[in-house]
Amino acid sequence: METTEPSPRKVIPIVPFESGGAIEPPPGADAEMVSLYEAHQKIYPRSVTGRFSNWRWGMVFLTQLVFYGMPWIEWGQRQAVLFDLGARRFYIFGLVLYPQDFIYLTGILVISALSLFLFTAVAGRLWCGYACPQTVYTEIFLWLEKKTEGDRSARMRRDAGPWNRDKILRKSLKHFLWVAVALWTGFTFVGYFTPITELASEFVQMQMGSWEIFWSLFYGFATYGNAGFMREQVCKHMCPYARFQSAMFDKDTLIVTYDAERGEPRGARSKKADLSTLKVGACVDCSLCVQVCPTGIDIRKGLQYECIGCGACADVCDTVMDKMGYARGLVKYSTQNAVNQHWTQSQTLRHILRPRVLIYTAILGAVVLSMVVSLALRTPFKVDVVRDRGVLARVVEGGRIENVYRLQIMNATEQVQRFSISVDGLPGLVIASDADVQIDATQSRWVAVRIQAPFEVASAGSHSIHFSIRGPATLGQVSEKSVFIVPR
Ligand code: SF4
Ligand code: SF4
Repeated sequence: METTEPSPRKVIPIVPFESGGAIEPPPGADAEMVSLYEAHQKIYPRSVTGRFSNWRWGMVFLTQLVFYGMPWIEWGQRQAVLFDLGARRFYIFGLVLYPQDFIYLTGILVISALSLFLFTAVAGRLWCGYACPQTVYTEIFLWLEKKTEGDRSARMRRDAGPWNRDKILRKSLKHFLWVAVALWTGFTFVGYFTPITELASEFVQMQMGSWEIFWSLFYGFATYGNAGFMREQVCKHMCPYARFQSAMFDKDTLIVTYDAERGEPRGARSKKADLSTLKVGACVDCSLCVQVCPTGIDIRKGLQYECIGCGACADVCDTVMDKMGYARGLVKYSTQNAVNQHWTQSQTLRHILRPRVLIYTAILGAVVLSMVVSLALRTPFKVDVVRDRGVLARVVEGGRIENVYRLQIMNATEQVQRFSISVDGLPGLVIASDADVQIDATQSRWVAVRIQAPFEVASAGSHSIHFSIRGPATLGQVSEKSVFIVPR
């Protein structure tokens, strides 16, 4: 029988500008123009219940309870957690931090980064799937969407259908609720920087400041846009962590995996069908794992960078396996080595505790311990010494040499404190101004200090001296270096 070979077709991609546009097809070839740009397809994630979904909702409640609730907690006469940028004070329960305590912020960032490395090495994108604000707010917004517009199929039908009263009402209600949550989120965010009770009364009296309005709206708008519209696109295209997290994965990292050996060949069958005669795997090809996926991928194609490790596909596949009477775990958290080598759960867990994980844990433990010790031993006041640039050195009454300094004393306690200043480093060095200073609670003050020394105290030039600032017995003492100039 004679067969007709199809004429060769060339797919001509639209190529970058430097190439001068489309490539010329070879003579005689049938050409088809294909754009490399793919329009965004809206994803309608189906709702899902199960173990991992419960964990995620648990994290939604926990993180939002902390975020929305924390600014309302009082500590003494003030807000427990307040980052007062205007006054340059950061209050975290009993701690009062100054910008000079920047080292603690660095420590928190280092701890966060190390924790991320550790959790990623152990269980992949645990943060993305359960605690990232993008995931958490998308989950809340999706829940509101489901309550107002129904689940996946109803939403798809409505979006494809004409605008009618029902559609307008449901969509309006959805956006009203989204905006309400977004604005409340923006307001709460600003409440970490401005006392939230004051902010609330300013809001009621419509007297909020312009910056407070701006940041409430900006943060609210970002929440509305990211959780309502951008959703998986933030994870796929904007989040830097999604780009480098694969560098922290190895074959012993827990990831959401499809057991292809067990699942393939996939295919529909009746519940009563005998798998051995049908010669099919456990996957019934229901596509539910794709429908529940918030990033719209098919986990059966293997690990993809879009996967945020949320476990929704594992949850829904377990319900399918239950209905079919098959063992759960066709899609599950496992490691590549465990799947390839058919390890048991305990073997898998043993391999998770590998040197890399132990090293991350040890470093993280050391940094956390140093932070705790450093905070516990921290002197609750700070001192900066600056030489008065207007008066380098001068000879005063009685032939003594005088240098003038400015000391900034920062009281990081919540009580008024008295401090006494002393100086040493040269024979006969005395303080000619007031050596006792009172500083109000959580305030700082610049104090001018005149230091005098006998005329023949030392050769001309600069000489090291030390200021000691002593608080009450419970506060301890701070020493700061400076120089004393002896003129020629
Ligand atoms: S949910 Fe499970 S059974 Fe259904 S298509 Fe996905 S892997 Fe196959
Ligand atoms: S593939 Fe599964 S685990 Fe990954 S994002 Fe989709 S639903 Fe979540």
